[in-house]
Amino acid sequence: MIPFLDVHAAYFELKDDIDKAISRVLESGWYVLGPEVEAFEAEWAEYCGAQNAVGVANGLDALTLALRALDIGAGDEVIVPSNTYIATWLAVSSVGATPVPVEPDAFTYNVDPERIAEAITPKTRALLPVHLYGQPADLDPIMALARAHGLRVIEDAAQAHGARYKGRRIGAHGDIVCWSFYPGKNLGALGDGGAVTTDDAQLAERICGLRNYGSRKKYVNEELGVNSRLDPIQAAVLRVKLKTLDVWTERRQAVAKIYTDGLVDTGLIRPQVPNWADPVWHLYVIRSPGRDALQQSLADEGIGTLIHYPIPPHMQAAYAGQNLTPGALPIARDLASEVLSLPMSPHLSHADAGRVVSGVRKCLLEF
Ligand SMILES: *Cc1c(COP(=O)(O)O)cnc(C)c1O
Repeated sequence: MIPFLDVHAAYFELKDDIDKAISRVLESGWYVLGPEVEAFEAEWAEYCGAQNAVGVANGLDALTLALRALDIGAGDEVIVPSNTYIATWLAVSSVGATPVPVEPDAFTYNVDPERIAEAITPKTRALLPVHLYGQPADLDPIMALARAHGLRVIEDAAQAHGARYKGRRIGAHGDIVCWSFYPGKNLGALGDGGAVTTDDAQLAERICGLRNYGSRKKYVNEELGVNSRLDPIQAAVLRVKLKTLDVWTERRQAVAKIYTDGLVDTGLIRPQVPNWADPVWHLYVIRSPGRDALQQSLADEGIGTLIHYPIPPHMQAAYAGQNLTPGALPIARDLASEVLSLPMSPHLSHADAGRVVSGVRKCLLEF
């Protein structure tokens, strides 16, 4: 049986160092914020090539606090991809603003800058591109649009730890970059975690306050904040895993190459990588009109796959109030019925990746 993802394996590879790091926190007596969180923030900022990092409780909060730090709220519009994980939209909705969806390029799966331009209105305050599946969105035209229209750029980098756009790591191209350390992400904690990175010291300071009851000095509350802090035990675990992140990314790239080469003449649509992108393969997503049958045959062969995502946000009951018909965003609707994520992790052996390729080829022959 080849699982879609085995998060356990990441722990066992680094067990000794992770156990030591956790003990260090337990013995330190610092159980909220403190030196472990500060050390991770410094290391994460440096890794991302950003001036500042602020640890928060999860990726959704990173996005929400980024929007709040930019004073985006009721009456404002934020442009989001139509085919993202729903958290991107939920963050916008949770501050009272309206997510305005824009369709992706159906081959890179990333938001199309030309369609962003068409969606800008006088109410637009920010652009919120997602580096979906670990591949950077085309940031230069997005930044140019933002400058031309006086908009802010918040990047959802929850799937893109270490990815590069035109040679430079994701982390400070836009105004604020938002990260998730959910266990299944490329850099994952042993529970929930998140962060923002930014070159703007004032925005970082503001988010430091917002994550801590709106307070930077104990019992002095400057604004209506929340409790959304990165846990020091998780920070200690992340510091250990960060040292291995690049090695794990290389292993993901090797698996992706096995898939890309092995599926070349199958008629399946494989992910397209623009020449300026260095993706980190959070997911390897293929497309097939016969997706459901393919997924079932692979399951029969003992190969686990997942669908990211089976129902696009605009077709969720949660967004019924936005009155978007399924056909209002046809690319997102169609991708949801065709995409399939093959097993992907730094702990998938090349032999197993080869078995996935043979499994897919065998299933296609049977149709
Ligand atoms: C995982 C994810 C999030 C949310 O992160 P959490 O830490 O689970 O809250 C947001 N956006 C995208 C694209 C994600 O993949």
